[in-house]
Amino acid sequence: MEGSKKVIVLGAGVVGLTTAVKIQERGGYQVTVIAEVLPTDDKTIRYTSHWAGAHHVLNATEDDKQQKMDIDTFDVLWELSEPGSETEKNFLRVTQTEYYCDHKFVPPLERMPDHKLIPKELLPAGVVHGLTFTSITLDTPKYLPYLASRFTAAGGKIIKASVQHINQVVEGGESAFSSERNPPSPPDAVLVCTGIGTRFLGGVEDKDMYPIRGQTVLIRAPWIKFGRTIGHPDGTWTYVIPRRSGDIILGGTKDANDWYPHPRPETTRDILERNFAMCPELAPPEIREKRTPTIEDVIALIIEEGCGLRPARKGGIRLEVEWLEAGDTGKKVPIVFNYGHGGYGFQSSWASADIALTLLEDATSQTLAK
Ligand SMILES: Cc1cc2nc3c(=O)[nH]c(=O)nc-3n(C[C@H](O)[C@H](O)[C@H](O)COP(=O)(O)OP(=O)(O)OC[C@H]3O[C@@H](n4cnc5c(N)ncnc54)[C@H](O)[C@@H]3O)c2cc1C
Repeated sequence: MEGSKKVIVLGAGVVGLTTAVKIQERGGYQVTVIAEVLPTDDKTIRYTSHWAGAHHVLNATEDDKQQKMDIDTFDVLWELSEPGSETEKNFLRVTQTEYYCDHKFVPPLERMPDHKLIPKELLPAGVVHGLTFTSITLDTPKYLPYLASRFTAAGGKIIKASVQHINQVVEGGESAFSSERNPPSPPDAVLVCTGIGTRFLGGVEDKDMYPIRGQTVLIRAPWIKFGRTIGHPDGTWTYVIPRRSGDIILGGTKDANDWYPHPRPETTRDILERNFAMCPELAPPEIREKRTPTIEDVIALIIEEGCGLRPARKGGIRLEVEWLEAGDTGKKVPIVFNYGHGGYGFQSSWASADIALTLLEDATSQTLAK
């Protein structure tokens, strides 16, 4: 790694790890990820990526840039989920059904594989538009460690630490956080991928960042191999997201500026009732064969209730560069920002990492020219 540019990525959620993989695999860079919470840690409200469904559905009807990133990322995820590939185990390819109770939320899904409209007479009560297509779901407990190990296999380094102020790494690199006790020296670039934590990271403190809290219920139902969502008139969803493991995520809620870190029991009940009404197949098949299932049959399948804070940002994802002086060293360090992915961090991760890499390459070539 002699002669490589030293890059620090702050954050090890799906955004930080994907960005770190892209840069490390590009060649010519030695990347260190520094993050307070890692994929292998216990689930916490301080790490959103553990709580995602996560499926790929083009929902960003109001934002063309986001749509483009979601579409480009789909192509990468589709390839990674190729049957027979080594990476297939992180994904499930599913037939996804989307129901909408209001035309204004219908996104352009025609480009998705096997896209078909559902005839009006087959739509459930209250639904005005429905379609099916093939998409993928990500098994997040497998996919996040996969990203981390792909990164370290390419030569990247991961340090578990909380950074108080961006200047700590701009001036001193990783030295204050590493057990290697290397002398402090400014890196060639820093990438900020700190999700909702960016609101509090000293020197950045982006007050446009706000949480959109989402509560979910994880159940064990390996017989469910399809995805299904209803988009409600108020912009919220009821959804079933199956994972390859046989665990299923039921959602959801969407509450802006709600920081409450625990699942609310009444919300769990509401999520279960909405999902059972939309998808009676959640009850075990052997029960459905013998008698009419009840909500109690689904409650018996619960593994966990949880909630996460989608890292939303007024104005959308921040992808840009700023330069900071590294104390009195005379060096200017480019800071590449890549955060604020809201409810789309997985489904836009590869495209936003691509943009961050381009910003990094432009910035580091400017440094060389100086
Ligand atoms: C219920 C729910 C369902 C969702 N479903 C989907 C879905 O189906 N599809 C989809 O694409 N997205 C979905 N999302 C959104 C997705 O989870 C997020 O967009 C994504 O996880 C954001 O990733 P991130 O890396 O930006 O943030 P995080 O995963 O929160 O990672 C942030 C990282 O930064 C670190 N960090 C922060 N501050 C500091 C600091 N000062 N020092 C050191 N480290 C720091 C943290 O420790 C962590 O490692 C869902 C979210 C929720 C809550």
